[in-house]
Amino acid sequence: MFNIEKVMNPNLGLTGFDAVMSEEELAIQDVAHRFAAEVMRPIGENLDKMSAEDVIAPESPLWDYIKKMDESGILDLEAIGGMSDDEKARIIPIIFEELAWGDCGLALTSMVLKFPAFAAYNTGNPELIERFGKLRGCWVATQPDKGSEIVDMEGTEIHPGGKQNKGNLVARVDGDELVITGQSSAWVSATPIAECGLCYLPCDYGDGVYKENGSLNQIAVLVPFDLPGVSKGKPLDKMGMRSLCQGEVFFDEVRVPMSYVIADKESAFPSFIGALTFGNMEMGISFTGVARAAYEHALAYAHERKQGGVAIIEHQSVKLRLFKMQQKVEACRALALRVFAYNYGPKGPHLLASITSKTFVSDTCVEVTSEAIQILGGNGLTKEYPTEKLFRDARTAQIADGENNILGLKAARWLSKEFIARNG
Ligand SMILES: Cc1cc2nc3c(=O)[nH]c(=O)nc-3n(C[C@H](O)[C@H](O)[C@H](O)COP(=O)(O)OP(=O)(O)OC[C@H]3O[C@@H](n4cnc5c(N)ncnc54)[C@H](O)[C@@H]3O)c2cc1C
Repeated sequence: MFNIEKVMNPNLGLTGFDAVMSEEELAIQDVAHRFAAEVMRPIGENLDKMSAEDVIAPESPLWDYIKKMDESGILDLEAIGGMSDDEKARIIPIIFEELAWGDCGLALTSMVLKFPAFAAYNTGNPELIERFGKLRGCWVATQPDKGSEIVDMEGTEIHPGGKQNKGNLVARVDGDELVITGQSSAWVSATPIAECGLCYLPCDYGDGVYKENGSLNQIAVLVPFDLPGVSKGKPLDKMGMRSLCQGEVFFDEVRVPMSYVIADKESAFPSFIGALTFGNMEMGISFTGVARAAYEHALAYAHERKQGGVAIIEHQSVKLRLFKMQQKVEACRALALRVFAYNYGPKGPHLLASITSKTFVSDTCVEVTSEAIQILGGNGLTKEYPTEKLFRDARTAQIADGENNILGLKAARWLSKEFIARNG
């Protein structure tokens, strides 16, 4: 048993029951937290109230955010790339919980803008690093008639007798060039401000796009958006994460050098899974930050608002509901961190782990942000208080980076595959 001599208040840092954090980790958390509080929250709240067009206009505070984030060095790719796996497993989630606590749309904007550069660095190819290492980017995967099918790229969830849409955005190999035609979905994040894309496309290598099981051949390619034939649609207006802009990319017989291809034939599918595994893992910790923000607002409000002659925190049911919110935030963080440790550890990475975190945390975040509204009563529903925005942000996360049910189906299939492999 524990030998407790004096009963004290619990010692909770920004991230609750985090038991041991080094001086360096605490310093990184402090820098990210201050940036989130002083820069991201005010800009995120401002952008949330603006139209989708105004969010990306030249005078938008979004550009101020991007500049300040670059200057801060918080997400310096070379610094992060130079960390050991153990450091990545601990430091990336510390940073992203704070950034998303500030504003999840802006946190994800910063992440997705670096996706193509990150992919270029991963190849180690100096030509690609030179061409794409400094460009703002986006991740082109879904198409107007291919949403969840992208998550099911290897075709395990195709209905008997069915086959996946060919899609209207397709690539074909033509000698030493790749020719891309069609349009992405309107959901591609950061497209309106992107200078290039990491594109996962159905591809005709010379014998058609379909495989025997009804799924599609794929290719992964980095595409500069200043090539002839590339254009963009209008920014999309949506419910939550409004500071993260979206829009279509149109490709009209765009010719890309084959040297910009980062994965083809058999390697394109694993490359996509690698990107989704990273994205889902990130979503897990980011929406832990959103849930925490909602809990903190509700806790503070419960100490201010008086009803029945006392601050509402004195009412037993309010106290209990706040405890359950805190418990859920801790559960989200514990799972999200466990998945970072697994993915950067000797047994990982695996999409099953990332889906486990992303779906649990985003679903739980919806519960926590909804309860925060409840604790604020009528005020919780108004734009004067932050809780309704946090709820809309959380609700959006159940569909972004793969809709939670199709992700769950994919995860369940991995559980079964693993069981069969172990037990025969
Ligand atoms: C905020 C946000 C950011 C996004 N960012 C990007 C981005 O950067 N790049 C990008 O390419 N895309 C992006 N997306 C698109 C996102 O990945 C898709 O919206 C998501 O994959 C779901 O696709 P869908 O909207 O077409 O829904 P659909 O695929 O049409 O699904 C509709 C419903 O049908 C169900 N369903 C579909 N297929 C099956 C099946 N086989 N079995 C059982 N049920 C099924 C789904 O579960 C869902 O409930 C983003 C979306 C959001 C909301």
